[in-house]
Amino acid sequence: MKPLVFATNNAHKLDEIRAILGHEMPVKSLADIDCHDDIPETAPTLEGNALQKARWVYERYGYNCFADDTGLEVDALDGRPGVHTARYAFPDRHDPEANTLKLLAELDGQQQRTARFRTAIALIIDGVEHVFEGTVEGHIATEQRGTEGFGYDPVFIPEDTGKTFAELGVDVKNTISHRARAVARLAAFLHTLQPSA
Ligand code: IMP
Repeated sequence: MKPLVFATNNAHKLDEIRAILGHEMPVKSLADIDCHDDIPETAPTLEGNALQKARWVYERYGYNCFADDTGLEVDALDGRPGVHTARYAFPDRHDPEANTLKLLAELDGQQQRTARFRTAIALIIDGVEHVFEGTVEGHIATEQRGTEGFGYDPVFIPEDTGKTFAELGVDVKNTISHRARAVARLAAFLHTLQPSA
């Protein structure tokens, strides 16, 4: 298969995907193809943002590629923060602690706390677009708990666990998370394109 680019600047995500896909399916970073663009993410949906990023790389750099976008959808907030998850507290910057505190404040006194993390991955192979999704259902805690992970992990309790992602730890999280599920679907699809060894 031709080289595949993951349209992200997040080194942790790159390591994760390389470990899952293995050596026979090499993945290039944006730096590897000398792409230092500030790729826009202005679509109104997660799928739209993932496609926008993947199309940017495919159209300008000519590589088969994929890109992801993740959002936290809280039912009592009509699906917010959704596409605004990264910049929920401040539209111009990513402040995870402020985001988490804003979420807790918005849900103060609210009994209905169900929510889900959703990841969309857009893949473009030879001009053909595919979208893979991964979801984990859960609810928002009333206070921050746990020390592992990042972002909203201290307040997101995946269903059937009773613990936040930050309490469960990265190893458990990576078996059930929204991103892990979306990546598993991407990997399964990519493996169908590989001639068997
Ligand atoms: P991204 O699309 O992966 O960059 O995710 C957007 C935002 O969602 C991040 O900046 C985090 O605030 C949040 N987020 C994504 N994945 C997770 C997660 O696994 N745990 C907690 N927060 C997350």
